Amino acid sequence: IKGKYGMHCAYYDDSIRQKLLDEQFILSNMKSALVNREFVVFFQPKYDLLDEKICSAEALVRWKHPERGLIPPNQFIQIFENNGFITELDLYVLEETCKWVRSWIDRGNPMIPVSVNISRADIFNSNLDAILLSLLKKYGLDPSHIHLEITESAYTENAEQMIHGIKQLKELGFVIEMDDFGSGYSSLNMLSELPIDVLKLDMRFVQNYDRSRDKRNIMSFVISLAKWMNLKVVAEGVETEEQVNLLKLLGCHWVQGFFYSKPLPLDAFETLIEQVNFS
Ligand code: C2E
Ligand code: CA
Ligand code: CA
Ligand code: CA
Repeated sequence: IKGKYGMHCAYYDDSIRQKLLDEQFILSNMKSALVNREFVVFFQPKYDLLDEKICSAEALVRWKHPERGLIPPNQFIQIFENNGFITELDLYVLEETCKWVRSWIDRGNPMIPVSVNISRADIFNSNLDAILLSLLKKYGLDPSHIHLEITESAYTENAEQMIHGIKQLKELGFVIEMDDFGSGYSSLNMLSELPIDVLKLDMRFVQNYDRSRDKRNIMSFVISLAKWMNLKVVAEGVETEEQVNLLKLLGCHWVQGFFYSKPLPLDAFETLIEQVNFS
């Protein structure tokens, strides 16, 4: 027993040490990574279920490190949310997104809205509205061209301040999407207090509904509720045709997931939307 316990400890220590190393690495490299443009924005298309055409996209960041390769966001977003660097990174992603939308329109293509992820810290930044407006002005875009995805868990603390911040963004004309809807506990309450346009159904519902009748019922209920409230619903994490068919049956508006496309680098995304028309 003692041996086993020792092994367990060794394993535990190793993984903690690895984690600390990674965190140390991330903290000491983040600033130069931003300057050196190692953060790259990928786009994942969202499809309209009525005609299965691309209707918009979500910007998702990756860290392309020269030695370590492509580092996924789940390895650094949390760290940046804790130390505040997320605000700088999110603004970078936002600017890259505006830049792309501008160049896409300039090449004679029809407008395609793109959503960016907004963190709690961003909303508490009292300059956010001014920064967003100046970016839009710089690229000659309208707020409705950019959707803001705000995760449900962002509302758990300082709800009043969050609600105020989100209302301001909505008043400026941004489209507000509530991300990971159904993953927290405050969702229904927040629905009545926040000026939301789009609900993003958390992927746990979509992915496990076949193993749980309750999940399927909740999904069906959320989609109906959203419709009664005049909100659009987008289902995330759609991986199979069966899921697509069920979501169509339930009247979900939009879907996003590997079944249609993974998040793509911008050149690959452009190739895709040039092939598949978008609505
Ligand atoms: P999220 O906002 O919920 O984004 C959706 C995540 O689901 C993305 O992971 C996407 O690649 C993944 N996904 C899409 N379709 C499928 C599918 O069919 N199956 C499965 N299993 N996964 C799918 P990703 O890109 O690794 O991002 C993870 C999270 O990191 C995001 O979750 C978001 O919370 C955060 N994140 C990414 N980029 C940014 C950013 O620029 N700013 C901020 N603040 N957060 C970001
Ligand atoms: Ca999101
Ligand atoms: Ca302000
Ligand atoms: Ca999500």
